[in-house]
Amino acid sequence: MDFTYIIQRSAKRRKLTITVERDRSIVVHAPEGTSDEKIQQVVESKRQWIYEKIGHPQKYQELPHAPGKETVSGESALYLGRQYRIEVIKTDANEIQFSQRFLIPAKLAKQAEALREWYIGKAKEKIVPRVMHHAHQLGVDVAMVKIVDNRYRWGSCTVNDNVNFNWRLIKAPMFVIDYVIVHELAHLIESNHTPRFWNIVRAQTPKMEKAKAWLKENGQLLEEVI
Ligand SMILES: [Zn+2]
Repeated sequence: MDFTYIIQRSAKRRKLTITVERDRSIVVHAPEGTSDEKIQQVVESKRQWIYEKIGHPQKYQELPHAPGKETVSGESALYLGRQYRIEVIKTDANEIQFSQRFLIPAKLAKQAEALREWYIGKAKEKIVPRVMHHAHQLGVDVAMVKIVDNRYRWGSCTVNDNVNFNWRLIKAPMFVIDYVIVHELAHLIESNHTPRFWNIVRAQTPKMEKAKAWLKENGQLLEEVI
């Protein structure tokens, strides 16, 4: 293998995961007690995937909007898969309004966090009820749903049956949000990506393939500030 990787073992891990960071470093998270041989075996089996990740230029481009960029009239921002225009307005209001465009009070326009806060609020409002709906459909018990700030993952589940979702998902179309939700919930039934796992996901989200393609194509968009 012509790449190196960092191994991080933890008692809290129940499965081995490989992540390629933005700087292309490869990190293997493994349950405590996993042997080096086993890790090497898994890494070897994922070699093609790793090559694709580290060789994939699109994913690692610098973001076009640096974090902290000001929101200005004429720019647009994503919400539920569509771009909407931003208008900076003079108003006494302290909140961003949305009605087929973003109306941003001038005093908030210089704060990148204002739009972020708006997205997080919407993510809580829209994503959490969808999680409960799908959990009911799949017959799984979810302990807690959290909207989190995680730059590299759209969703995750924990050993305590908590599920976490990246607030940036609110920029994606609803069929993509549904897919990510169902993917994580299905892990509460089947922890690995087995054929059974994919059958569960497909049955609950008929647009699964389309959603995966959307994420592959647009994933980076979700990381931009606006
Ligand atoms: Zn998964």
